Amino acid sequence: MTDGSNNNQSTLFDWQDVDDEPRTTRGTLDMSELPSELRGCRPRAHKLHVRLEELLGIVDLILTDNRRRMLSSRRRRNRQEIRAHHMFVNSCDATVSAIADLASGRKGARQTIQQFIQDNRDAISFAPSDDELQQRGEHFNLGVVLRKVLKIFAEPVRDELDGIHITWGRRGRGTKSIRFGSYDFDRKLIRIHPALDRRWVPDYFVEFIVYHELLHAIFPPREGQTRREVHTPEFRAMEKQFPHYEKAMAWEAANLRRILDNK
Ligand SMILES: [Zn+2]
Repeated sequence: MTDGSNNNQSTLFDWQDVDDEPRTTRGTLDMSELPSELRGCRPRAHKLHVRLEELLGIVDLILTDNRRRMLSSRRRRNRQEIRAHHMFVNSCDATVSAIADLASGRKGARQTIQQFIQDNRDAISFAPSDDELQQRGEHFNLGVVLRKVLKIFAEPVRDELDGIHITWGRRGRGTKSIRFGSYDFDRKLIRIHPALDRRWVPDYFVEFIVYHELLHAIFPPREGQTRREVHTPEFRAMEKQFPHYEKAMAWEAANLRRILDNK
């Protein structure tokens, strides 16, 4: 990625750019980790970069989409590397100072940052965009499957599951194992492995996988004594309540090889 100082001559003819980015920075601004639809925040990111350099000297700013690690910083020789969630492009002066304080190891900044994160968390939509979702496969329409599976749950639970998205995932490599589905908590998104989009895969099996992923939304992973428990006993008990549980398990056992061979 380029930073403000890399603007070439064409900028001279583009008064808007000149107006938007009046200051150059010495460090780099890296937005390559952001999904393309978020890269439009570049002018604001640049402004944040400029303000951080005013306080910290050379800053390499990397914007991320990482919700688990919103902000981190490290010193690399004469440069400060700051990794920040893209929500920080909307920082007010107090937050920018707090980021700089945190980067220089000064105490007391953490609370300002945490408040900012709390205030902005909900304002940012992490929901997947429509064109990111691919529900229609060759044989299964996952939107239809999801609606059908949701009916299995009782009303209050179903409400809890409202707003969950579903999409076909990408084809992975390797033929030794397969993950039929996954659930992304942050984005409330179920991904189903495209290997299941086959004529010979029964409806009830795809439904079972969707049901299983929905249970992940109901029973989040728990920190156990020795390790993180993903499939808790409550999870497993409810999994067995799937109307065709036995049939689905038997089908999986009998057809796993065939699925792997057709990944
Ligand atoms: Zn699972």
